[in-house]
Amino acid sequence: MATAVVVGSGPNGLAAAVTLAEAGVSVRVLEAQDAPGGGARSSERTLPGLLHDDCSGFHPMGAASPFFRGQDLARYGLRWRWPEIQLAHPLDGGRAALLWRDLGRTVEGLGPDGRRWSETIGWTSRRFDRIAEEVLRPIIHLPRHPFALARFGSMAVTPASVLARAFRTEAAKALFGGVAAHSFSRLTTPFSSAVGVMLAAAGHAVGWPVAEGGTQAITDALVARLADLGGHVETSAVVTRIDDLRGADLVLLDTTPMAAATILRGRLPSRVARSYRRFRQGPAAYKLDLAVEGPIPWSCEDVGRAGTVHLGGRFEEMVAAEDDMANGRMPERPFCLLGQQYVADPSRSASGLNPVYLYAHVPHGHGADVTDLLLDQVERFAPGFRARVRHVVATGPAGLHSANANYVGGDIAGGASDGLQVLFRPRIALDPYSTGVDGVYLCSASTPPGAGVHGMGGYNAAVRALAGIGLRPHR
Ligand SMILES: Cc1cc2nc3c(=O)[nH]c(=O)nc-3n(C[C@H](O)[C@H](O)[C@H](O)COP(=O)(O)OP(=O)(O)OC[C@H]3O[C@@H](n4cnc5c(N)ncnc54)[C@H](O)[C@@H]3O)c2cc1C
Repeated sequence: MATAVVVGSGPNGLAAAVTLAEAGVSVRVLEAQDAPGGGARSSERTLPGLLHDDCSGFHPMGAASPFFRGQDLARYGLRWRWPEIQLAHPLDGGRAALLWRDLGRTVEGLGPDGRRWSETIGWTSRRFDRIAEEVLRPIIHLPRHPFALARFGSMAVTPASVLARAFRTEAAKALFGGVAAHSFSRLTTPFSSAVGVMLAAAGHAVGWPVAEGGTQAITDALVARLADLGGHVETSAVVTRIDDLRGADLVLLDTTPMAAATILRGRLPSRVARSYRRFRQGPAAYKLDLAVEGPIPWSCEDVGRAGTVHLGGRFEEMVAAEDDMANGRMPERPFCLLGQQYVADPSRSASGLNPVYLYAHVPHGHGADVTDLLLDQVERFAPGFRARVRHVVATGPAGLHSANANYVGGDIAGGASDGLQVLFRPRIALDPYSTGVDGVYLCSASTPPGAGVHGMGGYNAAVRALAGIGLRPHR
């Protein structure tokens, strides 16, 4: 029986482990932290009884993931829960742009820009499964849906600042811009629309659900699935050198390219070592977990019915904030994402208190305490918010990094998403998962298709690894 070690138990590591185990490989997962899950964990971070998502909170790409869909994770307790409104983007003056799962309702709400939304985002959502199948794979492949991919590609390559010109109203521009900001890069660069178009379309096609009982439920389901297949996870097990894993036929690294270079030192072909060392990390997140009494007093009441809330103001303001962030300057009004997971999953609240999740885009490694800037962004659209806050836990870039070695300098996206790295990560290669060392593959968010809890980097890498030892994936 072939054997494999997976280093790291984030969603990609676990997806790789399950895929290998399904194919009959004996799998051991080694996790540095004291619990599995990486960016897919939840805990009572503020007060007892309030369940917070430690990292990822919303799962459009999880709901869309062919790997997750193929695993029947409901059998292992995973239930998606959708908020009534998927996403709200409040604007000054008590208005808000709303993204409903129902395209027609969104189009109606966007008034004069509704038709244009339908022609771009709606068009993509109607072909979502076909396009997702293409973009969740490495860039170099023979497309199965070339026409859908070509039309999507023409939107994706366009800078968000150019695509936004298609919209006339402040509301539609802001709604699109906030989603595009998930790329964690300047909104003026080529390909900065890709994430925006895809995630907004996902909002209609599959929604932006949360996991009932916290994102941890995704990890718990994957770990249980792995156990059913005979695999297991060992925690508090930091891997620093490949020699410690001697005997395994396959090694899959759910790590950064730089960590892979360290683990594989002396073994990596020099061109791969150079590429890994040149791999650029991106900007950072600064996260607050808050215990808040009652609902948030949004100026626009509809915002209280949304799971995700983008706090970035007008499109032009977000362009400036993301530009500052990318240039290493802390924006005065940073782009923030606020999570009201409890709207979709009330089991996370307790004793009249709600767990609120809030993070801002900040420069890589930013060391200052920016708690007030984040709270100001909420207060701007929800006057009286501060007075309802009962407890705050702040986690800056250094804290994120110490909780997860993959979040270098607070970069939660597995590397910068600009320049050539948008298309080719971790390096320009036909097989981006291969490290060039026999039997060793990289499978983290630093590989295609990049950040997010979807497991597709892990699945794709495991398929390559199986092929290398003459095996095929179970599905
Ligand atoms: C604040 C925040 C908000 C986010 N929001 C969302 C969201 O709403 N939706 C979404 O889809 N995504 C979101 N993400 C991103 C998502 O969490 C990541 O893209 C995803 O977890 C990446 O999965 P991964 O398996 O590649 O790596 P990770 O989840 O980072 O897991 C890597 C694992 O490997 C372990 N490890 C690393 N090095 C070693 C080593 N040498 N030895 C042993 N173990 C090691 C780490 O401890 C970690 O457990 C968010 C992330 C953060 C931090």
